[in-house]
Amino acid sequence: MSNTYAEEISMDEFQKVIEIYHTSMDDFLYIYDLVNDYYCISSSAMERFRVPGMQFENATNEFRKFVYPADFQMLFDDLTAIRRGEKDIHNVEYRWLDKEGDVVWINCRGKAVKSRDGVTRYLIGCINEIGKNQKADNVSGLLRESGLCSEITEREQRGLQGFMLRFGIDRFKEINENKGMDYGNMILRKTAECIRGAITPEQKLYRIMSDEFMVVDFSAQSTDSAKKLYKKIRRRIDKFIEANGYEVFYTVSAGILDFQSVSDKSYSNLMKLSEFALNEAKFRGRNQYYVYQREDYDKFLRKRRLIQLMRQAVNNDYKDFEVYFQPVVDIRKNTLYGAEALLRFRTEETGPVSPVEFIPMLEESGLIIPVGKWVIHQAMAACSKIQKKIPDFRVSINLSYIQILKSNVLAEIMAGIEKYRLRPGSVVVELTESGLLESNPNFIKFCEGLKANSVYLALDDFGTGYSNFHYLYHLSPDTIKIDRSFTLKALHYDYEYNILKHMVDMSHGISLKLCIEGIETKEELEKICEIGPDFIQGYYFGKPVTFEQFCQEHLQ
Ligand code: C2E
Ligand code: MG
Ligand code: MG
Repeated sequence: MSNTYAEEISMDEFQKVIEIYHTSMDDFLYIYDLVNDYYCISSSAMERFRVPGMQFENATNEFRKFVYPADFQMLFDDLTAIRRGEKDIHNVEYRWLDKEGDVVWINCRGKAVKSRDGVTRYLIGCINEIGKNQKADNVSGLLRESGLCSEITEREQRGLQGFMLRFGIDRFKEINENKGMDYGNMILRKTAECIRGAITPEQKLYRIMSDEFMVVDFSAQSTDSAKKLYKKIRRRIDKFIEANGYEVFYTVSAGILDFQSVSDKSYSNLMKLSEFALNEAKFRGRNQYYVYQREDYDKFLRKRRLIQLMRQAVNNDYKDFEVYFQPVVDIRKNTLYGAEALLRFRTEETGPVSPVEFIPMLEESGLIIPVGKWVIHQAMAACSKIQKKIPDFRVSINLSYIQILKSNVLAEIMAGIEKYRLRPGSVVVELTESGLLESNPNFIKFCEGLKANSVYLALDDFGTGYSNFHYLYHLSPDTIKIDRSFTLKALHYDYEYNILKHMVDMSHGISLKLCIEGIETKEELEKICEIGPDFIQGYYFGKPVTFEQFCQEHLQ
């Protein structure tokens, strides 16, 4: 086919051939003489569209009569590129006007045929109505994803520029479930209308899945126009909501992808990244846009991989997890009070991962429930072995609120105490302020259960949150643990040092114990001991280590 040349084709002869073909197909065949601007098409096209005849000259001008005005320039540009020999395949989805003046989506494909002297002479091909084979969407009246795929794939080799804006209706599933499909369809149609009314002639709109739309703009110089477009669409939607007296109410999010910021511009990769961008906008609170950034995507991939590795580890008898122990010293008696159990995760692929990074991932994935349970058992087993040497040794276990709200962690703790025959008062549960739900009935039950069974409660991370007194009142802990970040401030600044001193006095006034975390040197220890805390936990007395190392270092 690529070697086909044509010097002169008789239009009348061609017409006879296409009329024969047309009897066995729905598509409209055409031949366009680019040199003489002369056009010839199946006669049936005249019955359907505002086409002036089955053959007509001065074609470029005549196109204006049946090509949807906003699409004319794009068609003209594509035909100019063909005429100049810059490309030889024409494959464009755009709109024609039918006899009644209604818009009809068509796909026009064709191949350029040159004469022997290299001049592009003819464009020969066919036109079909996209809506007939489900390429267009009847609810919103827009093109579907398949159209977007061919557009991007075709442009990929020529170097893509501009942006993709993936637009989603927030909580659309809920709208559908609560108000019914018809209502949902109405919202979709209205949203499509709002987007259609906001886009410029260079921007194309597709409906890609139930509640998502895509606007692509191959001529934009930056994502500024995408951000403006998002705001413009939102204003239109808000107006529609207002006009309906707030009977309907919904918000929209958008993920914006700058083609220049992506090296792999294949269609599948662009769709994947635009999906990530939209999800990120929703994840950040919905009702906003987010512009794709490589670093964020890398973080997302690392998180996904870490969760996958941790899930594998859970299914593999907690391989790659380990519980370390860090000594807690009773500074008044100068004895070992106990140890805090601190979870570790390490694989060959990732090396050691900080709990500050992986604990929130365990929480988000729900894996904190089995892993937390395992930590409880490891910590208690260790405590029971150490109690053979130090009978009143205590173990502190960090708990996440997810464990308290989504599992019966109190029962797990009680079962452990019994199984490992721990003495009453051997277990300390550490809770942080963040995420505290003091009015939740499960949480209240949990706190009461701890007290009834002589399990101590420590308020961790004190000094990093905000309304500390509020939490003190609600949790009524036995111990407060001062976070290392606050300890460091107290060691350097008089103001924080004095606050800490008053806190120690106040705590003792209400029979609360105070543990200071993060003491690394002798000088720090001396300075902090002047204010009279109860316990010290820090590298000075020992870093978190394995159970075996802990026994070697602290039990000799
Ligand atoms: P946290 O409970 O406040 O634990 C104390 C953290 O301070 C530990 O960090 C410990 O290694 C560190 N630390 C103690 N003394 C010093 C010191 O002198 N210098 C320095 N630079 N650091 C010191 P780690 O082990 O990285 O744990 C971080 C946080 O992760 C913990 O803070 C805790 O909130 C959480 N975490 C650890 N294990 C678990 C667990 O099993 N379950 C839950 N839910 N959270 C855990
Ligand atoms: Mg802790
Ligand atoms: Mg702490």
